[in-house]
Amino acid sequence: MPGLMRQLRGLDGCANPIRLDGHRTEHALNTTTGEIGPVLSHLDAADLPAGHLLVRCNNRRATRCAACAETYRRDTYQLITAGLSGGKGTPDTVATHPRVFATFTAPSFGPVHNRPATGRCRCGTQHPADADELGTPLDPQTYDYEAAVLWNAHASKIWARFSIYLRREVAKRAGLTQREVADHARVSFAKVAEYQKRGAIHFHAVIRLDGPDGGDTPPPPWATADLLTDAIRAATQAAHVDGPVLDGRAHTFGFGRQLDIRTIRSADFAADTELSDRAVAAYIAKYATKGAETATGTLDRPLRFLAKLARLTIPEHARRMIQTAWTLGARPDLAHLRLRAWAHMLGFRGHFSTKTRAYSTTLGALRQARADWRRLQAANAHADTGPALDADETTLVLAHWAYAGTGLTRGEEWLATGLHGGDQGD
Ligand SMILES: [Zn+2]
Ligand SMILES: [Zn+2]
Repeated sequence: MPGLMRQLRGLDGCANPIRLDGHRTEHALNTTTGEIGPVLSHLDAADLPAGHLLVRCNNRRATRCAACAETYRRDTYQLITAGLSGGKGTPDTVATHPRVFATFTAPSFGPVHNRPATGRCRCGTQHPADADELGTPLDPQTYDYEAAVLWNAHASKIWARFSIYLRREVAKRAGLTQREVADHARVSFAKVAEYQKRGAIHFHAVIRLDGPDGGDTPPPPWATADLLTDAIRAATQAAHVDGPVLDGRAHTFGFGRQLDIRTIRSADFAADTELSDRAVAAYIAKYATKGAETATGTLDRPLRFLAKLARLTIPEHARRMIQTAWTLGARPDLAHLRLRAWAHMLGFRGHFSTKTRAYSTTLGALRQARADWRRLQAANAHADTGPALDADETTLVLAHWAYAGTGLTRGEEWLATGLHGGDQGD
């Protein structure tokens, strides 16, 4: 029992761990002779208290695993913060570089129920803030579901086009060619995708102007938040991608007119009305753990057969978006969009959080640091076991793991709830 408790505690509250069968053997390896030395440690899954090696599911979605989604949210926060105020290998001076927080939305696909500043929705009702009908079409018969789904499917491409144009627009404003600008400045960003209630993807991004080598180099004197803002506006308007021609209708996709760009100030100078580093990082991290299901009530996993859709209790608007994706997914000319596989995501198949290399650290590096720290803790705990390595020795790890299942047994679940039930918040 104590062993099982220890194994479960190592999952940090993951509710749906992956179970692995197999083993791992660590040998000493002489780096000069190549000779394989004694066994330093051996781990057999069958000998573990749970009978398997249990690995965290690392699911980003809060609806799938609250604990892993929370880890993902915290890592995203660290990643965004590092790019705003430094840390984790990024210098503190990035806080002085011009930075903005921008939100990019989809165009309109037809009027939806909303809460305008004037009070009344077009339908004549004054909707409460949590009304289910908010974001759903006023008239589902005329709502452009086809374009709405296809727009989601092209959203990542529109962003890619935008980021190319942004560099061009920055260069133009500095009086440089695109080739010349690379010697003076670099655009770095981190962005997250989020669903609006109407089921359209929108992007939140931190965009930063650096010197030629990224965050380590000071930006040139002409690089200001105003210049960056102006360049973003121009690039957003110019970014269009050609979509398919369906039944004589040629689709083109770009961002909607609703574009919000705000300058980020350093926490030290932040006035009440201005955005601080922390506020931006917290906002972005919060959205990183949401899938389409949180905003629109759709599914959090792929749909295998359309027949299943009829039996699920999901909002009508989400159902129509999924059905449209499924129907379009049957067309050979749209096969490249893989709309059936991504129907539950309402057509979007991009990454939820992406960043340029120079922005800051990576989620992978943060995970590695955590794994290294755990290994060090474990090594310290068992410091007197196993032979020590000589100076010219390193370790050779032989491992074989096979998937044995997902989740906890009912007994393990009961034990795990006792372990983590009381310490979810911070
Ligand atoms: Zn998990
Ligand atoms: Zn309404």
